[in-house]
Amino acid sequence: MNAPNHTETILAAVDQGFDEQVRFLGDLVSMPSLRGAEGSAQDFVAAALRVRGLAVDRWRIDVEDIRHLPGFSPVTISYENAWNVVGTHRPRASHGRSLILNGHIDVVPVGPIEMWHSPPFRPRIHEGWMYGRGAGDMKAGIAANLFALDALARSGLAPAAEVYLQSVVEEECTGNGALACLQRGYRADAAIIPEPMGEHLLTAQVGVVWFQVKVMGRPAHVALASTGANAIESCFPLVQALHGLEHRWNELRHPSFAGHLHPINFVLARIEGGDWTSSVPAWCTFDMRVLGLYGGIPSLVYGPWAENIHAFDERVSLESMRRVTKTIALFVAQWCGTEPRSG
Ligand SMILES: [Zn+2]
Repeated sequence: MNAPNHTETILAAVDQGFDEQVRFLGDLVSMPSLRGAEGSAQDFVAAALRVRGLAVDRWRIDVEDIRHLPGFSPVTISYENAWNVVGTHRPRASHGRSLILNGHIDVVPVGPIEMWHSPPFRPRIHEGWMYGRGAGDMKAGIAANLFALDALARSGLAPAAEVYLQSVVEEECTGNGALACLQRGYRADAAIIPEPMGEHLLTAQVGVVWFQVKVMGRPAHVALASTGANAIESCFPLVQALHGLEHRWNELRHPSFAGHLHPINFVLARIEGGDWTSSVPAWCTFDMRVLGLYGGIPSLVYGPWAENIHAFDERVSLESMRRVTKTIALFVAQWCGTEPRSG
């Protein structure tokens, strides 16, 4: 196991590598790895893993491989460009506990560009924050994973167990990227996911349910509207009833969420209906997204302080990323144990 006297060395090693880490984060943020376009960012990560001597596995997710697995989410877009990357560290003698360091490379769309104070894929540092889409969610986390291992190496140490550094796609919509890693055989005694959690440790997590409701009405000319049935207006009471359910679920919440203001959120995210302004709408479709509860996932979510994720002017605190990197580096050393670095 890690001797406590390594602690100061490892913390100093994170500081020594921090300028390089910030540059790495900037490079990663400048790559617009929107869903379906993660390829070049994944190549960049794969190269960074390879340079560090990790064995790199880069593969395209095949939906047929994961379709039958629990946790699989229906696929609505092409997986033509859905590449996962895993770098594996193998110790000389494995005597510690293995670890997955997971992060997702995909970022959510930027929305109307004129609402940003600077271009979302041109990272900008101001007063200790790095701005840019994906800076917080969660490229700073990927950088923290990678540079935590660098800090050990710089300290002359290597984890004394397998460490799998994963960069996955498809987190922002389904989670199928992480599922594909499981299917490919990547298992470990624990996993850390440095999502932007404001340096809080998450032991229970909300999941996501997406669903779509299609309501059929009866079309009629507006002059004879009372003979028709308005599909759009018929959705209003349904949405209201779903918010009633949301209220009940929040009252019945899991004890892990006792202190949380409102853990379960129904969000009406899209609505579409009707064909013609002079006709009573014959159809209406709405999507909703629900964050549901899963407990007992043997993974820790712990990551840096970020603001405006999924919004305009997303930003991550660089000092927070530094602290998280130090925490992960010390955790790896303690969890996996260490051995002298070879080579
Ligand atoms: Zn995320």
